Amino acid sequence: MERTLVMIKPDGVERNFIGKIISIFEEKGLRVVALKKLKLSKEQAKTFYIVHKERPFYESLTDYIISGPVVAMVLEGENAIKKVREIMGATDPKEAEEGTIRKLFGVDKEKNTVHGSDSPESAKKEIYFFFSEYELIGAEK
Ligand code: UDP
Ligand code: MG
Repeated sequence: MERTLVMIKPDGVERNFIGKIISIFEEKGLRVVALKKLKLSKEQAKTFYIVHKERPFYESLTDYIISGPVVAMVLEGENAIKKVREIMGATDPKEAEEGTIRKLFGVDKEKNTVHGSDSPESAKKEIYFFFSEYELIGAEK
C-alpha cells in the first residue's frame, strides 16, 4: 500500500467538481485517508511549489493556487503515486489522454484542475505539508 497527496486546484473547486473528481479516484480503487478544504496563503503556496521556484511560471502558478479554495486529500492504494498520475493525465490538458481528469476538466496548462505527488519523497513531504499524523486514517479497523 502506498499513499499520495492529491490537491483539487481552485479551478476544480470553483466549478464544483470536488465530488466528481473524488469519485473518479474511488472508482479506480483508491481510498481517501484524509481530506480537507482550505485556502492557501501566498507564502504557503510558494513553499508547496518550492521545487519550481526558478521556473518562469512560479509567480503565476502560486498566484493562481491562492485565487480560491483548494481541496487536499491523501489517497491510498497499490502504486497510488503512479496510479494517481495516470488518472490525472498530462500537465497540459491538450496533451492528456481521453478519460483523464485533466482531459475532462482541465482549462489550460496552469489551470489543470488537480495536483498529484510525483515520487515517494514528494508524497511524504506534501502529505505532511497539509496533514498531521493523527489526521491520516487508513482502511485498518
Ligand atoms: N505549470 C504551468 N506552466 C507550465 C508547467 C506547469 O503553469 O509550463 C503549472 C501547472 O499547474 C502544473 C504545475 O505548474 O500542474 C506544476 O508543474 P509540473 O511540471 O510539476 O506538472 P505536474 O506534475 O503538475 O503535472
Ligand atoms: Mg509536478
